[in-house]
Amino acid sequence: MKRGNLLTVLILLGLLLGAGVGEILYQTIGHEDPDALNALSAAGDLVLIRPLMLMIIPLIFVSVVVAVTSLGDPSKLGLIGGSTILYYFCTMLVAVILGATVVSVIQPGVGLDPEITEGLRAEGEQRLERDAELQARMADAEDMGLGGAWMNILEQLIPTNIVEEMSETRPLGVIVFALLFGLALAAAGHRAEPAVQFFNAAFSGMMRLVLWIIWLTPIGVFLLVAWTVGRIGLIELVGPLSWYIGAVVFGLALHMFLVLPAVMYLLTKQNPYRFFWQMRKATMTAFGTSSSAATLPVALQTAEDEGGCSKKSANFVMPLGSTINMDGTALYEAVAVVFLFQLFGIDLSFAELVIVVITATLAAVGAAGIPSAGLVTMVIVVTAVNTSLSGQPDSPTLPIAAIGIILGVDRILDMCRTATNVWGDAVGAKVMTRLAPDTEEELEEALG
Ligand code: ASP
Repeated sequence: MKRGNLLTVLILLGLLLGAGVGEILYQTIGHEDPDALNALSAAGDLVLIRPLMLMIIPLIFVSVVVAVTSLGDPSKLGLIGGSTILYYFCTMLVAVILGATVVSVIQPGVGLDPEITEGLRAEGEQRLERDAELQARMADAEDMGLGGAWMNILEQLIPTNIVEEMSETRPLGVIVFALLFGLALAAAGHRAEPAVQFFNAAFSGMMRLVLWIIWLTPIGVFLLVAWTVGRIGLIELVGPLSWYIGAVVFGLALHMFLVLPAVMYLLTKQNPYRFFWQMRKATMTAFGTSSSAATLPVALQTAEDEGGCSKKSANFVMPLGSTINMDGTALYEAVAVVFLFQLFGIDLSFAELVIVVITATLAAVGAAGIPSAGLVTMVIVVTAVNTSLSGQPDSPTLPIAAIGIILGVDRILDMCRTATNVWGDAVGAKVMTRLAPDTEEELEEALG
């Protein structure tokens, strides 16, 4: 068996065994005492998440410098940068509109037995009360609001201390700095040639390191999935939230398997499903870890070595995408927010749906590539809709604590939306390879 295939089989085994063992744990321990399983998540963190996170900042820095120096020409960078941002926003907007449509058609929060709804609310409140860390993150997001969240992004875009950005794992500032530094190296011409060679060599070394770390993925995803399923239980999937879960998964599946492939086919004329298969290691890692940031090293390696994306494109599009391009999160936020309003019997008008679409897109950009980030930035969307509702006489609003209702099943949905996020980045890298191929063959392939 080829090494790549062996790894795929092992990761798949890790996912399936993790789900199986998790379900057994749920039936025996997790159901009564979910916290008893926390050792599994701690072990998954040690085995996989931490080694991957260790790579992120140096990898982002080196890969962006390599991308920019190889593009050389600032106008080319402008073209790729502009097209990439346009691609991110358009696909996220489509995702969120798709989410709003799916939830409005399926109406998972309408017609539930009032007793069940009451039970869900009470359970949700208790869940949230128990999770002090999440509560604090949500309170921060509420205080910050949409304006504050964007101000935060702007501040990250214009950092004052690159070492601090690196030590706090804030990728945006590092990307900006690497971009400017790469441009300067390119502009300096032959005198900067040794530095350019150094970064290219360093990138090859980084990739080799990533290749080693990737072999930890099967064990890591096994531990993390066993922990997730052990706390939630697959049986929850057919509980009262099943229509909601179904709506999120259905929307994500449409986006992943129809919308993004169509976008890729239209813009590259290449077979998107073949590319999907080539990217399987990255999407499975995203699914297992629920973190697009942690998946970045795997995604970058897979896109270039197996997916046929150019270094010039992927080295720039993937790091930026893992930070701001979140199709899955945007879609999920729309479904989740509208579902909660439905559950509380609050009808949203078309104008409020538009608010959901806009704020969910912007909130998804602000979400970090870590687990539950989408759940936290959802507070911004709920607050924006509440503000609009409170302007109307006698209109009830949604208590923020209602988010607790979907907290219990969130991690499973997080796995699905993170896989969609990473697939969206990969399609972006493939599309931009057309504008910035590395080799003659890629150029020919890009031109069809
Ligand atoms: N976990 C997601 C990611 O890393 C973000 C989210 O919570 O939606 O991409």
